[in-house]
Amino acid sequence: MKSTLPTDLTRFRRIVIKVGSSLVVDPETGVRRSWLESLAADALKLREHGADVLIVSSGAIALGRNRIDSLPRDGKLSLAQSQAAAAIGQIALGRTFDEIFGKLNVATGLVLVTIGDTETRRRYLNARATINSLLEWQAVPIINENDTVATNEIRYGDNDRLAARVATMVDADLLILLSDIDGLYSAPPASDPNAKLIELVPEINDEIKAMAGEAASNLSRGGMVTKIAAAQIATNGGAAMIIASGKKDHPVSAIQSGGTCTFFSPADKPVNQRKKWIAGGLGIDGQIEIDAGAWRAVQAGSSLLPAGVTNVSGAFSRGDTVEIVFEGKKVACGLVQYDFKDADRIAGMQSEGIESVLGENYRVEMIHRDDLVVV
Ligand code: GLU
Repeated sequence: MKSTLPTDLTRFRRIVIKVGSSLVVDPETGVRRSWLESLAADALKLREHGADVLIVSSGAIALGRNRIDSLPRDGKLSLAQSQAAAAIGQIALGRTFDEIFGKLNVATGLVLVTIGDTETRRRYLNARATINSLLEWQAVPIINENDTVATNEIRYGDNDRLAARVATMVDADLLILLSDIDGLYSAPPASDPNAKLIELVPEINDEIKAMAGEAASNLSRGGMVTKIAAAQIATNGGAAMIIASGKKDHPVSAIQSGGTCTFFSPADKPVNQRKKWIAGGLGIDGQIEIDAGAWRAVQAGSSLLPAGVTNVSGAFSRGDTVEIVFEGKKVACGLVQYDFKDADRIAGMQSEGIESVLGENYRVEMIHRDDLVVV
């Protein structure tokens, strides 16, 4: 019989694993290759059960620092030092992942994102399409913040929230945060002997938030505060989240075999929440009028195709939020896949016509159903 524990990982279809700097890099000796090999083996096991796997890896700055003798071994680096250290560390990190997965006959794809890639809608759609292509090709995306160009004002700074944004972006159903902490405790375990590990968090309330003390180490930026922030992003986006220790080899198999961890349940109606975010959170940049057939299709949960569009107005870009109007009334809104010029050129057209106007790489939907909400 299949296990019904929430930590039975075989039931998840798309899993993002985030690994912290202190797991990936030893400050003295550099990349912890045999540990990474054990992680890769775990990732492939998940794939054997039918899941897509993505890895968000920290460690670029820590590794770059390890390779440059003139950089101090510990303590904070200046922004310029971190950016340059990341340039050195990232190339070595990418190569290591590629070598390890290459031996297992699996391709990897390096995706370096800045905060604008998840917070600006047009770039969000682009990044999502790229990562989805990698997954379709059975490659393992290796993701990190592009620390070399990120500045203090415009960066995530921690890969916990970055990983949660990525998990929501690709509709993952599980995010695993591996670090040197084995879960969420009721109080800081280092200073409170009565601190208890919380195994299950059904909902992130004020009490849970209050449990997040500061636990950042020298190598990584994320403490429990950023992990709880990540849990809020992930669970609201419909993914479960696990915090577990990655100190030992095969850290993901350890969770599967019932090892210590904290499991955060996904929010109740994630799809509605995401659609609420689309409907409520963003400004409206244009209008798309549709015919009765398209309106019926949209109500039935289908994507909006160019064929059903009768008029386009407003100077919107790809990824902007537009209103969908039927018989003079706003009936829905969503994130549009074309800018206003192309949308206007292909309005009313069937697929064959679109290809002759835009070439073979056109997108089938004007608005994909995942990005569409009836209001
Ligand atoms: N992006 C940083 C790096 O690769 C790590 C951020 C973090 O520790 O969460 O070095």
